[in-house]
Amino acid sequence: MRFSFRTKLMLSYLLLLFVMSVAIYIYLNHSLQESIIGSLRENLASQARLATMLVGRELHDPKIDAPRLASEIGQALAARVTIIAPEGEVIGDSGVTVDRLIELENHLWLPEVQEALKNGHGAAIRYSATLRTDMLYVAVLFDSNVLKGGVIRLALPLTAVNKAMTGMDTILGISLLLSLLLFLIFSNILARLTSYPLRQVATIATEIGQGDFRRRLPAKWHDEIGDLARIMNDMASRLEEQLTNLSAERNRLDAILTGMGEGLMVTDMDGAITLVNPAFRQLFAVNEDVIGRPLSHISRHPALHLSYRAVRENGSELQEEMIIQAGEEKTISTHWVPLVGDKGVNGVVAVFHDISDLKRLEKVRKDFVANVSHELRTPVTVIKGYAETLLEGVLAEDPARATRFVEIILNHSGRLTDLITDLLSLSELESADFNLQLQLVTLEGTIRRAFVLLEGKAEGKTITFLPPAGDLPSVMADLGRLEQVLINLVDNAVKFTPPGGSVTVGVITEGEYVRIAVRDTGPGIPADSIPRLFERFYRVDAGRSRDEGGTGLGLAIVKHIVQLHGGTVRVENNSDGPGATFSFTLKKG
Ligand code: ADP
Repeated sequence: MRFSFRTKLMLSYLLLLFVMSVAIYIYLNHSLQESIIGSLRENLASQARLATMLVGRELHDPKIDAPRLASEIGQALAARVTIIAPEGEVIGDSGVTVDRLIELENHLWLPEVQEALKNGHGAAIRYSATLRTDMLYVAVLFDSNVLKGGVIRLALPLTAVNKAMTGMDTILGISLLLSLLLFLIFSNILARLTSYPLRQVATIATEIGQGDFRRRLPAKWHDEIGDLARIMNDMASRLEEQLTNLSAERNRLDAILTGMGEGLMVTDMDGAITLVNPAFRQLFAVNEDVIGRPLSHISRHPALHLSYRAVRENGSELQEEMIIQAGEEKTISTHWVPLVGDKGVNGVVAVFHDISDLKRLEKVRKDFVANVSHELRTPVTVIKGYAETLLEGVLAEDPARATRFVEIILNHSGRLTDLITDLLSLSELESADFNLQLQLVTLEGTIRRAFVLLEGKAEGKTITFLPPAGDLPSVMADLGRLEQVLINLVDNAVKFTPPGGSVTVGVITEGEYVRIAVRDTGPGIPADSIPRLFERFYRVDAGRSRDEGGTGLGLAIVKHIVQLHGGTVRVENNSDGPGATFSFTLKKG
């Protein structure tokens, strides 16, 4: 059973009162009885002394006078009077007739008689079997002319005393009950008043415990409860401060986790996820809540689980690269760190870094090196072969053949020069300190110059150049690089357009930009080649491109220059006739 502090306080007050009341009752009862009996004894003793005087004067013949005197005095005093001869023989008794006095036993050895004989007076309380009650006996020594050393004994039943005591008991009991009742009310009020601050402390402490750290206890009491209130206020302030620090720390951590480019995952010792950051969600393409879910919920990729198990079992860090399928194939560098507590590994932190782009770049670089080597090998091999044959004496033996060989060597060294020029051009465009010389450029002049430069090649194939009509807008561009773009596109158009065709250059304004399009009537571009057409060394038909003297870098250079200008490139097959249209945008001047 649970008692409130107030009830306990009240009960202790009541217990105290009860114990005190019982003690007071016992003490009062005893001392009252003592004093009543004491005064009764005194009374009886003085009456007995009066009786001795009477008996001393009136007793002439003991046999006759003693019974009479005993009866008369007994009637006058309303007590039993016994007159005892010095040998203990009862010679008169107010409660016994003369003829039956002989039946009474000798009273000499009764304690009160013995005491009276010794001290002149004596008293005793004894239960009387005849009257069935306690009796008070007082005995006094007397002398008369005829009888020396007799004893007069007065006896009074204590029923009156007992009755008085019972009355006293009732009064005491009632007053005790009343005081108990009053005390109950007062102790209730007192307990309420005493326990009020404690109850207030308990209520506010509960609110603080439930998280309301702003609550404070009134520190108005100057006692132990006041001290307790101040201690609790101190505790609440410290808790509030720590909570503020904790939440600031948490916000900082949240910001770091959110801003982190790497995916982060924390698991507990059972492999259930306890924390992931947005980058992790993006990396593994998870939208739903994963907290509390097992690792297998994220991915069933075996490498992931093997790494996790290895870290858990060995308790040491692990770094591993793995390819996972999450939406698309991704190459991920993973770093696993065990969370070590007192009882060993109790969780794992894993950082995931998507290195797919890095890998792709690495592949592009490798492919590029392989492509360049491949492109260089053919002309170098050809030049070396023909030069060796010439050295072997062809020059002297067959001058016509030798001339053809030299022409072939020249042709291939030309290809080498073109290749090296294009590679240098690309590396120049890619270098960090490359700057465009931007200026206001009129398109009419630039287009015209490109046409003039390629006129001879076009005439050889009876290809017609069609320049744009009307006034053309100006653009902000690096003149040299713009010409390079136009020449590359018009040159390609001439190269791939069959004889009798045409190459049209058109210019249209698109908001802030100007689109310049080169349209031919050639074979067009196969649909599957369109996305890769601007890659380095990509060719639709490698053999034909080489025959045409192409390096496979022209469109890559075009794309690079246009992008440096802030524009875009596009290629599409003509919808209203044969051929393709290559176009790019530049900012209006
Ligand atoms: P190349 O030096 O081989 O011309 P480019 O980068 O200029 O290199 O062009 C890449 C490839 O794009 C060419 O090999 C060719 O297959 C294709 N191509 C470019 N322009 C045209 C065009 N006008 N018509 C058809 N195919 C083209």
